[in-house]
Amino acid sequence: MGAQKPAIQVKDLYKVYRVGETKVRALNGVDFTIYKGEFCSIVGASGSGKSTLLNMLAGLEKPTKGQVIIAGEHIEKKNENQLVKFRREHIGFIFQSFNLMATMDAVENVALPLTFQGVGRSERIKKANDVLDLVGLQKYKDHRPTQMSGGQQQRVGVARALVVRPEIIFADEPTGNLDSKTSEEVMRLMQKVVREQNQTLVMVTHDNHLATYADRIFHIKDGKIEWIEDNRANSLEENDTTTNIKKESNL
Ligand code: ADP
Ligand code: MG
Repeated sequence: MGAQKPAIQVKDLYKVYRVGETKVRALNGVDFTIYKGEFCSIVGASGSGKSTLLNMLAGLEKPTKGQVIIAGEHIEKKNENQLVKFRREHIGFIFQSFNLMATMDAVENVALPLTFQGVGRSERIKKANDVLDLVGLQKYKDHRPTQMSGGQQQRVGVARALVVRPEIIFADEPTGNLDSKTSEEVMRLMQKVVREQNQTLVMVTHDNHLATYADRIFHIKDGKIEWIEDNRANSLEENDTTTNIKKESNL
């Protein structure tokens, strides 16, 4: 890992919200580096600062103090227009509520981010088809969201995040709307794409078990990273079952 390229560097990061007379230290001095190709989970109780941290990393909110460096660029120094462009080019999101377009089928949903990059139609469709194959949705390409299960919809969500080959994918409670069996299948899918595509993925969850699918687990409490758990031995063990899952899962 030491020889690897940093994907995200966080230095001395603070976010203080003022609520009336009181100050809430949502992030209270956070430092870490995430490397290219890593699957990291950020786990902590409700109110511990997970979403705040993810929002800072993705440039959705400005930190009170500190630095976030992605692909060598300082996120905290960018203005709103620069951030929009940066996110479009370097960042993918997976949402708890999937956020798919109801009137579009799977291919069109996955192709959508490429439209904003000015990719031509035939190229968009080809890329969307390839990513849908990768996430195991070969048979559902012309299905609209209402014609798919929750697990299938989130597979489309994963494919849509991947299609622009982003520097980093962020996921905030990506399985929050799924039952536990489907959640595990989506987690295994995310493990698979991280490994096969050397993709960097940062996932926030309040669920200690789901966090163990990651290579490293960042435990957050009261706006601070309490400890970083190296979980590579365990998460690789889980990988032994992925070939079976591909066969048995019909999400
Ligand atoms: P988590 O995602 O882990 O549940 P959050 O990052 O949403 O936690 O919140 C961390 C802390 O910051 C909580 O105490 C929350 O109430 C507070 N907080 C979050 N957003 C705001 C805001 N916009 N204004 C004031 N306080 C906030
Ligand atoms: Mg949250």
